[in-house]
Amino acid sequence: MADQQLYPVPADWAAEAKVDRAGYEAMYAAAARDPDAFWLEQAARLDWVKAPTVAGDWSFDEADFGISWFKDGVLNVSANCLDRHLAERGDTVAIIWEPDEPGEEAKRFTYAELHAEVCRFANVLKAQGVAKGDRVTIYLPMIPEAAFALLACARIGAIHSVVFGGFSPEALAGRIEDCDSKLVVTADCGRRGGKRIPLKANVDAAAAHAPSLERVIVVKATGDDVPMHDRDVWYHEAAADVAADCAPEPMEAEDPLFILYTSGSTGKPKGVLHTTGGYLLWASFTHDLVFDYRPGNVFWCAADIGWVTGHTYVIYGPLANGATTLMYEGLPNWPDASRIWQVVDRHQVHTLFTAPTALRALMKEGDAPVKATNRASLKLLGTVGEPINPEAWRWYHDVVGEGRSPIVDTWWQTETGGALIAPLPGATDLKPGSATRPLPGVQPQLVDENGSVLDGETSGNLCITASWPGQMRTVWGDHERFFQTYFTTYRGKYFTGDGCRRDEDGYYWITGRVDDVLNVSGHRMGTAEVESALVLHPKVAEAAVVGMPHDVKGQGIYAYVTLNSGVEGSDDLAGELRQWVRKEIGPIASPDAIQFAPGLPKTRSGKIMRRILRKIAEGDVGGLGDTSTLADPAVVDDLVAHRVG
Ligand code: ATP
Ligand code: MG
Repeated sequence: MADQQLYPVPADWAAEAKVDRAGYEAMYAAAARDPDAFWLEQAARLDWVKAPTVAGDWSFDEADFGISWFKDGVLNVSANCLDRHLAERGDTVAIIWEPDEPGEEAKRFTYAELHAEVCRFANVLKAQGVAKGDRVTIYLPMIPEAAFALLACARIGAIHSVVFGGFSPEALAGRIEDCDSKLVVTADCGRRGGKRIPLKANVDAAAAHAPSLERVIVVKATGDDVPMHDRDVWYHEAAADVAADCAPEPMEAEDPLFILYTSGSTGKPKGVLHTTGGYLLWASFTHDLVFDYRPGNVFWCAADIGWVTGHTYVIYGPLANGATTLMYEGLPNWPDASRIWQVVDRHQVHTLFTAPTALRALMKEGDAPVKATNRASLKLLGTVGEPINPEAWRWYHDVVGEGRSPIVDTWWQTETGGALIAPLPGATDLKPGSATRPLPGVQPQLVDENGSVLDGETSGNLCITASWPGQMRTVWGDHERFFQTYFTTYRGKYFTGDGCRRDEDGYYWITGRVDDVLNVSGHRMGTAEVESALVLHPKVAEAAVVGMPHDVKGQGIYAYVTLNSGVEGSDDLAGELRQWVRKEIGPIASPDAIQFAPGLPKTRSGKIMRRILRKIAEGDVGGLGDTSTLADPAVVDDLVAHRVG
């Protein structure tokens, strides 16, 4: 069974917590009792041109479906992230930028400097004809200009759509066309892990399939030679002609802030739309609570700006709160597995927020690269993106954090804007692998396939029954798809698509996507549980489990296993792993087939794409579908070639 070991709130955290246990309980109760009063009070975290008098106005029912928050409020997101900090924190560092190359100098931007950069960028956009409500596609590496560009859009009321720099020209073209954007901001090239990414060339290739595209602003990032066409403008040239001041556009709370396409693990990406007031409040509220943010703490969210995590916890949450946020251009394990920890030391990082996939990759290289660094500044750890295997959790806690730092495992989605289920470091005892309890204002519910509500200790499908300010408002251009996708499986509820277990303490354990649930001889099991058991074995680095057709059991278990560096797969080891899972979970969970795989197919945000693994396990190698959004499509060929059974 899953790990039930309890890690109590450390004494120093309990003593100094911003929100302690009683504080959390009181807040949770207050938000449940009178959400409007609670959120109107919380809205005072932001600086409004006109303060809202109404909080939530929403319905998840078909007849009057719609979601809005603070709808009579007026504000500007960039003014909240910049201007309002100038008087008190103008000289505080807003962004620390760490380059890909380890020897290269880091850059720092104070709030005053960032303000000027954003204003300049905003004026360049205006000069290129961008107006309020226009969509701007941002296809940039993790360079400071990415932050400038997002905030510049927010400043003038343009809607940004960030496309991850690792996406192909086809994926980029599809996302430009879907939201009918006329302008793309890109760079000559990107750098990541010592490799060049030909961003400008990709935009040129995308342009052939994106007739809406009229203008491309090109940031000189690497200095590589790139051909410039009529539609192209160098950013540094355009910026030389504009003022470093630009008045923020007053926006209604429900005006769109950004579109972000979901990562596509489960099918055609959806243009998730977030709006101005509710989203920013959720970003600020959750960054403050979950990370117990204090002035002076260096906050490092290691996600790319191409994902929602980068939007909410690299840019909007930290900057709304006047924090110092670290932006890193490169990869955690390049040039070697110590890099991430060297960056922590170099910039005295207080809070590190990363993904289980990164942790598993680092853990695979053993403890030595971690122990070669100091990490004394590190006081809080966070994770997001997938269920974290208890084994990886303990490694993060014991080896990386040397036992002193709580881990906040934050469950959320592109659709939710920010964390929904997560511990507060000074309030919540931790259990490895559990995202613990809902944040104030979040009403989770578990239901069975028929929609019947399941109470107490149980497993089911995770729904949220009440709106929260950070909730997405629509799928861009397809409101019907929004309703159909999230609100029709269980009428009147937001269905997350995730399976979940609630334990005797009311803790939530995400078991993976409902589509991934296994049904072996009538027993329902989350893939995460079997994977965690496998990863617990000392020789296993990573595992992905899917169902395969089985004459007797209905579904059998097919496990793809990546071994630690230097370990070879063998029949003996496969037998040992079967016994291991039997012992850890029970005979029912013992894998029917084990394939040793050097790599697993992952989305560019590092999530395992089980859809493809399922097809291979079923032997349907002709039906793999679109593999172009994979980080490394070549791993699929290897998996097909070495399929077992
Ligand atoms: P798509 O919706 O396009 O298929 P995606 O669901 O991978 O892609 P995201 O919104 O980035 O896109 O990811 C949200 C999902 O990630 C959640 O629904 C959940 O399955 C998983 N997830 C995120 N954080 C956690 C966590 N802390 N624990 C368990 N699962 C998590
Ligand atoms: Mg999803």
